[in-house]
Amino acid sequence: MADLPTQSVPVATLQDFIAAIFAKAGTSQEEGERIAHHLIGANLAGHDSHGVIRVPRYVFWLQNGSVVAGRTLEVVKESATHAVLDGGYGFGQTIGPLAVDMGIAKAREAGMAVIALRNSGHIGRIGDWAERAARAGLVSLHFVNVAGGELVAPFNGVDRRFSTNPMCIGAPQPGTDPLILDFATSTVAEGKVLVASNGGKPLPPGALIDPDGTLSTNPESLYGPIAGTSLRDSANGAGALRAFGDHKGSGIAFMCEILAGCLTGGATSGPIPGGRRGRIANGMLSIYLDPGHFGAQHFAETAREYALYVKASRPAVPDTEVLIPGEPEARTRATRQRDGIPLQLGTWAAILETAEKLGISTPAF
Ligand code: NAD
Repeated sequence: MADLPTQSVPVATLQDFIAAIFAKAGTSQEEGERIAHHLIGANLAGHDSHGVIRVPRYVFWLQNGSVVAGRTLEVVKESATHAVLDGGYGFGQTIGPLAVDMGIAKAREAGMAVIALRNSGHIGRIGDWAERAARAGLVSLHFVNVAGGELVAPFNGVDRRFSTNPMCIGAPQPGTDPLILDFATSTVAEGKVLVASNGGKPLPPGALIDPDGTLSTNPESLYGPIAGTSLRDSANGAGALRAFGDHKGSGIAFMCEILAGCLTGGATSGPIPGGRRGRIANGMLSIYLDPGHFGAQHFAETAREYALYVKASRPAVPDTEVLIPGEPEARTRATRQRDGIPLQLGTWAAILETAEKLGISTPAF
């Protein structure tokens, strides 16, 4: 199946439009601009699953109180090298930068810091946070779960037990783009099912599993019957996403629950005690390391040399090339900054519909 046509929207137009939607829906102008900036940042990186496709759902969450505008961090515990933070269900685009900046400040002082964040609203593309740390010259590792967001079957299981639990490792590279490894531990991120349900890139074989164990690529396995721009709700589907990499990916997903769900003091993706589904929120356990405390010169030189050595591996398919983590995103960013962001027509229609309900007219461009 070929991709359906897209609407290309200039970055600046999209930024103003999305910021206006959030401001009208109840955030401050500044917070609306910040949410728009981070969502568009995911589109620029090529991760449309975490971009403006999320706008209708975020507005819905804001309106029903699942996510709260204007929140700041609550510091639950703190030392020179760690902090436990509660995001109070604020927007992840507001809570995320505050948590990351605290990790950066502590790691610069002490050489390392561990930041345990719980109860954050959807924190988006995790690579964004590793890039923020890398811009400050730091290596960072992030383990994430989604409390109340059970979607993924474990290896050899069919019932949902994990969320899509991304993990991310970032490292700065002086004078060039950072190394950023950032992926969901499900075969695909949930947002990619969202994109596919809007007529975007089809899912790879075996991305989903039905309750009887049959593998599926049909988004309806996750969302139930799909009609037009209706809000996709995984509570309506009987199937599950599958963990990537057999027992290994499933094991990482499991450990993300332990680190981001249990150690942060948040919740795992599964039912909370009493069997009820928890309130949807991201937990994130992050480790920040300052190469300045480890031998910065050696790190920068050997990491760069090694990256180039890896890239020099002969490609398995002629006329292709070996890429290193972060490279696809940096390239897509350069193209989309220049040409605008291609949005699937279904995605664009759902955003326009959300805007219209708020009394905001379609931007001209
Ligand atoms: P993906 O499968 O596209 O993998 C992306 C990673 O693989 C990047 O590090 C990229 O640089 C690298 N990569 C891609 N192609 C490559 C190639 N040809 N050679 C070498 N490296 C390559 O990512 P995904 O699993 O679809 O995740 C998408 C996004 O979803 C991530 O940014 C993740 O943080 C986000 N996510 C967020 C949540 C949340 O709860 N906030 C949950 C799940 C996923």
